[in-house]
Amino acid sequence: MLFGKEPTGFIFDVKRYSIHDGPGIRTTFFFKGCPLSCWWCHNPEGISPLPAPAYHAGRCIACGRCVRECTRGARSFGPEGVRLDSSQCTECRLCERVCPTRAIEFVGKEMTVGELVSLAKKDLPFYDESGGGVTFSGGEPLMQPEFLLACLEALRAEEISTAVDTSGFCREEDILRVAEQADLFLFDLKLIDPKLHEHYTGVGNHRILTNLRRLDEKLLEQGRGHINIRIPLIPGINDSQENLEAVVDCVLSLGSVSGVNILPYHSIGANKYKNLGMEFKMGRTPPPAENEVSRVLSLFASRGIHAVKGG
Ligand code: SF4
Ligand code: SF4
Repeated sequence: MLFGKEPTGFIFDVKRYSIHDGPGIRTTFFFKGCPLSCWWCHNPEGISPLPAPAYHAGRCIACGRCVRECTRGARSFGPEGVRLDSSQCTECRLCERVCPTRAIEFVGKEMTVGELVSLAKKDLPFYDESGGGVTFSGGEPLMQPEFLLACLEALRAEEISTAVDTSGFCREEDILRVAEQADLFLFDLKLIDPKLHEHYTGVGNHRILTNLRRLDEKLLEQGRGHINIRIPLIPGINDSQENLEAVVDCVLSLGSVSGVNILPYHSIGANKYKNLGMEFKMGRTPPPAENEVSRVLSLFASRGIHAVKGG
């Protein structure tokens, strides 16, 4: 950069060789911060825009250094190991530094555009071979719009294909600017009923559905870019006939959709909630049965939409 500082973003994970975040083999960058707090979120460490303090009880040797060193008295021993009183914590990260076993870990780190692009370029042969590229996920990548745009522009200059995985809950002007650079949007559609949407995600869906329509118009107008609609299938929450029919209506009203993915719920992230000291509201909800997933795929097929499981 000739002038000023190179844009930086806050990332909480990088997944290479991913085959579930868009077409082909991909490198996925997980952006920190999300305005939603979906009950079923399997990346709860990505919700807070700040570094999230995680505690891994299995690594703790109960040496007590974190409890002794914390000047705020925010660490103490409890029945399940070391506890954190978030109301006292200033996130100075001293406990992380003094812990000898990495049982305390603050999730999230700063990255420059240059660092991100260099990392992505390591996997160029895989993208070329498989039709893959780079995916921005999270969290919500559109919570860091300037960094996202700078990354998209830099990757486009390298002719690397890009996808943005979004909830659609962002400023309209940001998603439209991103639409000028990204090749694909992985757009989540969860619930069409606004009250249920707010109950289960913490926000209403008016802005999301409006942004989806504006994005669709923009992509059609510029003749470049597509949307893949992604529907998490969550038993008892969004699998009713009424919701699914409304989702189908929404998909049919769009002109730039290139794929529909049904993503069956799983509870793989449940343990992360415990490590982060967060409440996991899904309890013991099981994944949807195979015949239930088939029912949903058939429903889409009956309305002329080829939906696929996973992706
Ligand atoms: S981050 Fe700092 S204030 Fe917070 S618990 Fe650790 S040592 Fe205490
Ligand atoms: S410093 Fe690390 S190992 Fe020691 S008690 Fe704290 S969390 Fe456990």
